[in-house]
Amino acid sequence: MTVKDNKVALLEEAFNEFNTRSFELERSYKLLKSEAKRLKSELKASHAEKERFREEAERNHRLAAVGEMAARMAHELRNPLGSIELFTALLKKSVHDQPKESAWVDHLSMAIHAMEYAITNLLLFTGKPQPQFRRVDLRNTILSLRPFVDHLLQQNKITWQENTATLSKTVWCDEDLLKQILLNLILNAIDVMPDGGHLEISAEATERPQADLVLSVSDTGTGIPEKALSRLFDPFFTTKDKGTGLGLSIVQNAVAAHGGTIQVKSNHQGACFIIRFPLHQEAA
Ligand code: ADP
Repeated sequence: MTVKDNKVALLEEAFNEFNTRSFELERSYKLLKSEAKRLKSELKASHAEKERFREEAERNHRLAAVGEMAARMAHELRNPLGSIELFTALLKKSVHDQPKESAWVDHLSMAIHAMEYAITNLLLFTGKPQPQFRRVDLRNTILSLRPFVDHLLQQNKITWQENTATLSKTVWCDEDLLKQILLNLILNAIDVMPDGGHLEISAEATERPQADLVLSVSDTGTGIPEKALSRLFDPFFTTKDKGTGLGLSIVQNAVAAHGGTIQVKSNHQGACFIIRFPLHQEAA
């Protein structure tokens, strides 16, 4: 081998070595680059999470303040309302033989019940309700809600149907909480059917996989917009001009206090809220 050949061989070897090294360098660079990208996005996510926690803490703080004020007002209104209710009942007795006056008193009673409903709603929103279980004829409970909304059903041309045929005679649950849950869902359903529709309320006791009470309220309204679905139960979230955004948050509180779950199904033909409670056994 000549000296020249030797130099060429050495150069070739150096060139190959250079190629291998630059390939390795390029691979390390790519690895480093993707690691830096991953760390950067992790940092961004952790910043976003921190910001979310901060916003949530701020909102909880605001909610606590609003809640405290609302609870105080609700308690203060409850006592005078109790007196109004008592005297209305006495009035009803004294005019029982005068149909016109008796009908006026019935209107008064309905208005009092509506106020009681609003106050109970406020208290449910502000505190964690403690369910008071007792034997309840759920069929009657559902029927007892109808007079509250009858005028709205007629006004909006909405048909009402209740399905309770498979229920056993009575169910061990908290009637007031169930009324509050159902009424909030029914009023929402009526709101989305201003030009008529069908409202269906079902109650069923299941055996499997466990003893549950399944309640559902479905409507043939507009359905829930996709972007509203994730915020539905947030306090103060509303898409209505005169909405408070409290209804579903109250429903969620009452359902949680009962140890239950809520499922929402929605499409362009309407929405359906399904609530499932464990059916507790009556205490001995
Ligand atoms: P509000 O009725 O005061 O708006 P809610 O908490 O009861 O407060 O409801 C929050 C939002 O959820 C409503 O503004 C509406 O956008 C949506 N929503 C609730 N029920 C229904 C329903 N049955 N169909 C369509 N959207 C609904």
